[in-house]
Amino acid sequence: MIAGMFTKILIANRGEIACRVIDTARRMGVATVAVCSDADRTARHVAMADEAVHIGGALPAESYLKGGRIIEAASATGAEAIHPGYGFLSENPDFVEAVQAAGLVFIGPDADAIRAMGLKDAAKALMEKAGVPVVPGYHGADQEPGHLEVEAAGIGYPVLIKAVAGGGGKGMRRVERPESFIDALESAKSEALGAFGNDAVLIEKYVEKPRHIEVQVFGDGTRAVHLFERDCSLQRRHQKVIEEAPAPGMTSEMREAMGAAAVRAAEAIGYKGAGTVEFIVDGSDGLKSDGFWFMEMNTRLQVEHPVTEAITGVDLVEWQLRVAAGEALPAKQEDLSIDGHAFEARLYAEDVAAGFLPATGRLTHLVFPDGARADTGVRPGDVISPYYDPMIAKLIVHGATRAIALRRLERALSETRVAGSVTNLAFLRRLAGHRGFAAGDVDTGLIGRDLEALTPDPVPCSRTWALAALGALGLDGPGPLAGFTLWEPLVWDAVLDHAGEARTCRVAADGADRFVVVVVVGDAQHVVTRSGADWLVDGAKTGAGIVRLGNAVSVFWGNGYHFTCPDPLDRGGSAVATGVIEAPMPGLVKSVHTKAGAEVAKGARLAVLEAMKMEHTLTAARDGVVAEVLVVEGAQVEAGAALIRLEDEA
Ligand code: ADP
Ligand code: ADP
Ligand code: MG
Repeated sequence: MIAGMFTKILIANRGEIACRVIDTARRMGVATVAVCSDADRTARHVAMADEAVHIGGALPAESYLKGGRIIEAASATGAEAIHPGYGFLSENPDFVEAVQAAGLVFIGPDADAIRAMGLKDAAKALMEKAGVPVVPGYHGADQEPGHLEVEAAGIGYPVLIKAVAGGGGKGMRRVERPESFIDALESAKSEALGAFGNDAVLIEKYVEKPRHIEVQVFGDGTRAVHLFERDCSLQRRHQKVIEEAPAPGMTSEMREAMGAAAVRAAEAIGYKGAGTVEFIVDGSDGLKSDGFWFMEMNTRLQVEHPVTEAITGVDLVEWQLRVAAGEALPAKQEDLSIDGHAFEARLYAEDVAAGFLPATGRLTHLVFPDGARADTGVRPGDVISPYYDPMIAKLIVHGATRAIALRRLERALSETRVAGSVTNLAFLRRLAGHRGFAAGDVDTGLIGRDLEALTPDPVPCSRTWALAALGALGLDGPGPLAGFTLWEPLVWDAVLDHAGEARTCRVAADGADRFVVVVVVGDAQHVVTRSGADWLVDGAKTGAGIVRLGNAVSVFWGNGYHFTCPDPLDRGGSAVATGVIEAPMPGLVKSVHTKAGAEVAKGARLAVLEAMKMEHTLTAARDGVVAEVLVVEGAQVEAGAALIRLEDEA
């Protein structure tokens, strides 16, 4: 044990980040206390920790945001320090003060440093004073719309309106033309008020071909070092999807300039612990030392910190614990260097084709690849619940060069197997194979521009149907036809459904490990044979895996494909046929935009459901007349609950 190190810490978080912190604490000989909500009593982080304290209901406001309850749990279990992870209470200065007032150590910066960076306008003003370049724009106190409009004109369009209290991309509006300014301002302000209880905004020049490049910093309260940059330009709606380190095309002059600016930012607020200084970079004409501007500082460990760990060999959580326990900075700037290249992909339970709708489900099958670091908060059989971020895992790969690391990312994604929920795996694979990305030609608009090519659900080919048919018939087990004698061919029909498309496959056994499968629709015919653990289709190795659970069959080959063996009695009433608009997931009815008797057109907005921190607009599946509105605003509804019913079609 390290002298002066904590003997026990409490982790005020859940999911992958709680598990991540526990891993390092254990390696350092520090005992761990987990906290959990009703929904997480058997979660992975609870199982991993030495002790666990139940702190309340499933909703974050009833548990992971209850600072007082968490501090009590730390005191009761004899923990000396609290690690906040990210999200939840990690950037809440009042919580930091309460932790310290209870005689405990907060593993992170002091409250004043968090406050200094908490509001984007004040942070920008502070950074300007410290000599850090900030995005040109207006971040003054005068919030009068007419005044803001004049400021916007002065900055020059396009501009970006940002909530000063913003986070997670909320309260942000890009405005192209002066005519749209006032409308955009109103909608940004109302979103900001709802999300943060503060409707103040600032206005920035919208940087063309923007790249998001951030610098990892680490301070001891006096001095700071930087651990180089991460490029997080692959974003969808301002949310990061794949991150990498170092940034492609980075020059040593620019790295030095950005690193120095980030260290200045951290030292200006006496920063202690791990933090990230986010910059927006003009990527329209290569990277230039004078082409980066401060956006904000995140005063916590960042989701994508593992790519920095992969290229520097530093365990950032270990550093957090050591500095919080009173040690000096574990390294000097000149001790730090970059080794190779790393990527991180965020694997989510979400329905990409349906507009990246967060999904829930029990992960009946879950295998992470060898050769990649998988940071996860779930195990096979665990549930992705509607209460929290639907992240399944972060996959992190490292290689000697960017090209090698990218190949490893593609391989890791193709070897990741998830059944029980839809995921963004196919989307991540397409992104990893994107040409512009491979060339290092990244900017925050890349995903949006190529969305149509990146998002459709992959369609299984007839060979995949053939493998699924074996799974549906239970012929994929070890030696299902042991003792098979060829005196009469055995023939079965399997009816399978993939994404609403049903097919019948006729399977004829042609030996104990040899099947002839005719996929009836399309009339493709394939010979499937087993060779050891592998399946050969028409003589070619596949490396495919077939997993059957209940009436679900998953074929893990390329993208994973998920089939069901439909119940022949299922009448299968679809929303279009019945005219009932159902909640796609559990959530809160934010607003209802129609009433009984109203005529609605296909696609019209009928209600907004808030679930998993996002708003989902529910629209009419066909033209019709509203027969009944079955919910009121503010109602909490279960998945599948009927919300609005249209009159039957004439
Ligand atoms: P980072 O800036 O560290 O990469 P993100 O952009 O992923 O982090 O998210 C910013 C913060 O918001 C993080 O602290 C993260 O935990 C939190 N967050 C993001 N999405 C969600 C969500 N759906 N539910 C809860 N917290 C979220
Ligand atoms: P948040 O607190 O929501 O993370 P940020 O200020 O960090 O807000 O901005 C989020 C994202 O929005 C950035 O990663 C970038 O993609 C985009 N963005 C922010 N400011 C600008 C700008 N001035 N020009 C272009 N894009 C920007
Ligand atoms: Mg940000």
